Amino acid sequence: MDTGSVLSTIAAEVQPLVGQGAVASYIPPLAAIDPARFGLAVRATDGAEHAVGDATERFSIQSIAKVLSLAVAMDLEGDTLWARVGREPSGTAFNSLVQLEADGGVPRNPMINAGALVVMDAVLAHTGPDATPVLDLVRAATDDATLTVDGAVAEAEIATAHRTRALAHYLKAFGTLRGDPDTVVEAYCRLCALSMSCVELCRAFTFLATGGHAPSGQQVISTRQAKRLNAIMLTCGVYDEAGDFAYRVGLPAKSGVGGGIVAVMPGEFVAATWSPGLGPRGNSVAGTMALELLTTYTGRSVF
Ligand code: GLU
Repeated sequence: MDTGSVLSTIAAEVQPLVGQGAVASYIPPLAAIDPARFGLAVRATDGAEHAVGDATERFSIQSIAKVLSLAVAMDLEGDTLWARVGREPSGTAFNSLVQLEADGGVPRNPMINAGALVVMDAVLAHTGPDATPVLDLVRAATDDATLTVDGAVAEAEIATAHRTRALAHYLKAFGTLRGDPDTVVEAYCRLCALSMSCVELCRAFTFLATGGHAPSGQQVISTRQAKRLNAIMLTCGVYDEAGDFAYRVGLPAKSGVGGGIVAVMPGEFVAATWSPGLGPRGNSVAGTMALELLTTYTGRSVF
């Protein structure tokens, strides 16, 4: 079957799952999203793109952005970053204060909120008070200067980020955070409010399938860093569901509460899916199934 037919088959098969699960409701702009949306896009490393459903509609990428800020931080900071954040799966909620306490103020990995705050702190230490370099990376990777944050989502995130703020101040108390905790939280919230479509996500994450090259051919990170980012996504990218996701899908991936998931088959393709209904661990129900079917029908996975 060609890729276009595979995607059409998958879209039909997951249809009964679309709308299942719960749409994120902690801020009004996300709670208002129609749960009946589903999109899936695949971009091969040779540039061939295929998409089905709502794959060109922009949505809030939320925690998927943590991979992009980590890419920038790894580039800016090098290995010294790992003195302040670990690389092990967490096994607890992505916003756990208890885990930060248990881990002595060094977040378990960069994909949980505490770790993403340390990553943002590292970026800001090199660049000033906003996350423009991360946006620059996304724009360079997608070759699309119109990509931007959704202002309403960003404001709502900032207004309700009490737990994230608590984590940031706790990190500051431990001495893990160098900058001002509230500045770090604002930059983190704005990054989570990036709006992108499945097709755009596939382009933005192409560098992880190509050893660091954006679709334009520009090397945006080193081959070694691309390998490391994929490893972190595989072990820490889908909340507290890394084992089950690896078992079912078999690809490095990062999900967000907006219902998006990006998955990478190094050397071959990037896939991105969106459907807002989330399962109990916070991953899109229909999206996870779509990716499971993709690796099943194509016979391609890292395993
Ligand atoms: N803005 C969300 C938070 O920090 C992101 C959640 C997510 O997508 O995991 O709580």
